[in-house]
Amino acid sequence: QGYQAQQQQQQQQQPQQQQQLQNPAPRRSPNDFIFGRYIGEGSYSIVYLAVDIHSRREYAIKVCEKRLILRERKQDYIKREREVMHQMTNVPGFVNLSCTFQDQRSLYFVMTYARKGDMLPYINRVGSFDVACTRHYAAELLLACEHMHRRNVVHRDLKPENILLDEDMHTLIADFGSAKVMTAHERALATEHCSEQRRSHSDDDDEDSDRLDNEEDEYYDRDSEELDDGEGDDEQQQEEMDSPRHRQRRYNRHRKASFVGTAQYVSPEVLQNGPITPAADLWALGCIVYQMIAGLPPFRGSNDYVIFKEILDCAVDFPQGFDKDAEDLVRKLLRVDPRDRLGAQDEFGYYESIRAHPFFAGIDWQTLRQQTPPPIY
Ligand code: ATP
Repeated sequence: QGYQAQQQQQQQQQPQQQQQLQNPAPRRSPNDFIFGRYIGEGSYSIVYLAVDIHSRREYAIKVCEKRLILRERKQDYIKREREVMHQMTNVPGFVNLSCTFQDQRSLYFVMTYARKGDMLPYINRVGSFDVACTRHYAAELLLACEHMHRRNVVHRDLKPENILLDEDMHTLIADFGSAKVMTAHERALATEHCSEQRRSHSDDDDEDSDRLDNEEDEYYDRDSEELDDGEGDDEQQQEEMDSPRHRQRRYNRHRKASFVGTAQYVSPEVLQNGPITPAADLWALGCIVYQMIAGLPPFRGSNDYVIFKEILDCAVDFPQGFDKDAEDLVRKLLRVDPRDRLGAQDEFGYYESIRAHPFFAGIDWQTLRQQTPPPIY
């Protein structure tokens, strides 16, 4: 009976689908929107508030100038951003990509308008979120990580500026330009808890070092002029992987290679050119939980080199009065070896051990996004 009902339903839907194929939704253009106030800008884009003239709905439209994208050679970046946004559309906790179109001059991304802006100004204004508030937002971020990682997406640039807030002060993750979509092979490696990572330091594992080189290309702006300076692969350098000279040289390469991502939140394995696994986002989660409570990110040296050194040494100071459960959670997320991070041993994208941490006691994971978030004082 169930099968028959299904058949009937499909037959009823067919004419509708045929009609849709014959008359696909008309391609959108800038003329379908009234562009309003400027919201903000990135390195090659400007975001405006806009109203759809047909539905009267408000959107944030990101306008990317083609000339700039070509000049900065950001084609890959923008393509990845579009693909991943599309993949995460309709997933709770993510900015929806409603449609994209282009004209001669620009590419347009029509997105959910995150009415309350990004999280950084709130942290800066308040100085420190209270524990209830931190717990709520950390839990929303953890759910977002689960959604991404189940879909093989590693964000790689989680930070308060990329956490937008909707009308009801719930989080919407944005900015997927640095994201990585893991292949089945990479996912299998990640599931083995990065067991290849250590081997990458040995001289005779050619296959692995090839893979790492590819990862590095993914992480940096691959079109940067001095990326390929020929220093990266000689045996002696691999032996010296952790010497100060090597770090300085690596730092120089990072700078030359126009670092993609944000220094303060980057994980040690990324700095060490290790394979990218979802644990990179768990590291960033640890940094953000710290920042919500302490007001500043945990690694904040005066320049990128100092920050990278602090990250590799995992040198974190917890200010007096830092909630003890939160401190324990942050310490367990900020582990240099990604395999040691809380959650890294869990089933892919279901972070039972993080959810069960005492800091999250009392969180109702099922209804979290339907609840009213605690006010930010
Ligand atoms: P870059 O591209 O250089 O990394 P970015 O990601 O900040 O920088 P954009 O994505 O163009 O650049 O965003 C510019 C500004 O617009 C940011 O301040 C961001 O918070 C804001 N913004 C982006 N998307 C939305 C949105 N959907 N709703 C509300 N504000 C948004």
